Amino acid sequence: MAEDDKTEADLTGGGLRRRPRHQPLEVGGRRLSPATLMMGHGFDPALSEGSLKPPVFLTSTYVFDSAAAGKRFFEGVTGKRPGGAEGLVYSRFNGPNQEILEDRLGIWEEAEDALTFTSGMAAIATVLLALVQPGDTIVHSAPLYAATETLIGKILGRFGIKWLDFPAGATREEIDAVMAEANASGRVPLIYLESPANPTNALVDIDAVTASRDALFPGEKPLIVIDNTFLGPLWQQPLKHGADIVIYSLTKYAGGHSDLVAGGAVGSKAAINPIRMMRNTIGTILDPHPAWMLLRSLETLELRMSRAGENAAKVCAWLRDQPKVEHVGYLGFLEEGSRQADIYNRHCSGAGSTFSLYLKGGEAEAFRFLDALKIAKLAVSLGGTETLASHPAGMTHLSVPQARKDALGIGDNLVRISIGVENADDLIADFEQALAAI
Ligand code: PLP
Repeated sequence: MAEDDKTEADLTGGGLRRRPRHQPLEVGGRRLSPATLMMGHGFDPALSEGSLKPPVFLTSTYVFDSAAAGKRFFEGVTGKRPGGAEGLVYSRFNGPNQEILEDRLGIWEEAEDALTFTSGMAAIATVLLALVQPGDTIVHSAPLYAATETLIGKILGRFGIKWLDFPAGATREEIDAVMAEANASGRVPLIYLESPANPTNALVDIDAVTASRDALFPGEKPLIVIDNTFLGPLWQQPLKHGADIVIYSLTKYAGGHSDLVAGGAVGSKAAINPIRMMRNTIGTILDPHPAWMLLRSLETLELRMSRAGENAAKVCAWLRDQPKVEHVGYLGFLEEGSRQADIYNRHCSGAGSTFSLYLKGGEAEAFRFLDALKIAKLAVSLGGTETLASHPAGMTHLSVPQARKDALGIGDNLVRISIGVENADDLIADFEQALAAI
């Protein structure tokens, strides 16, 4: 038998020692839901002494059964054979905790493949590095998370990569105009979206971006990459709207307990493969321990996000009527018939639990409100079990130039709130006394 024809079982001495990559996704003809699959998908207790939960695999390297097996696995690591290594090799490339997590992460969006990273920014940086070349133009929606803007505008800019953007709510015609300008400027490797945008919650019309890309790039198509941190994977699934790669800061809702930092990317095998090669080279793979913690977190993802979403709906309904509140930028309040509502109705199945609170006044009022909070914690980040509040203009988006902040609606009176799973009436009591302190 030629070495290339050997199966993994041949190469491991007949017995398939690695966990099965895909366990049954249905029982009695019923397709199992992600909430069910989070308890066991991708892990075979028999491979770990019957342990119900996977152990944390703390090892830097893995022992091959044979030299031929090692060679074959390296063909996967180096990209000679697409799809990644068929066996465990070295912890900069793969590991059981990360692979089980990746299998489970992909389940939510029925993605073919998934990767995990040391942070959301590591995921974004690895994806961009894998796709861009000097002279390219990246088209992106705006606003973006400030570090992503810095990465695209300032860091990649040093290597001769240009960018053009369109506002998150742009129409098909507006998107077409920016795409055409980018197309005329040279190669466009990717279109980078963030929806809802941090911190304004503005939605991008992914359907329109896909249609525009397909119409304006009849040949080699730029990949559509989207940061789905605010609503995914429960309430928005961009792969179903034509996106090629969906990126997550798993630090947020997926981790969900504000106790780890991690990132993820999901998509087709073809889209993920070059990203895996880049991750193998630069070593941005998630560590086993936070990967294990994320496996624990994904078991309650639907429960946590559902409860947080219900809480946010109650809190926002109360906030909206308060005299010191100018506006509540919550996706549940989009005006029927508006462009944002149209995008929401086509793309989203829930309004999430992170929203923008615009207070009457400016920075002084926002700071007094934040300083008075007793239950909600004054901290950046979002998607945890506890409610957090922060001031984007002075914190996460401080590095964004003032003119751009003004254009994007990141004002001094904007407070970003991420609602957790506490009792909603307790949270309302907290916001009531904080508004009184303004
Ligand atoms: N994308 C969005 C929308 C974010 O809000 C953040 C962090 O707040 C990131 C990416 C970066 O994620 P991380 O902090 O895990 O690197």
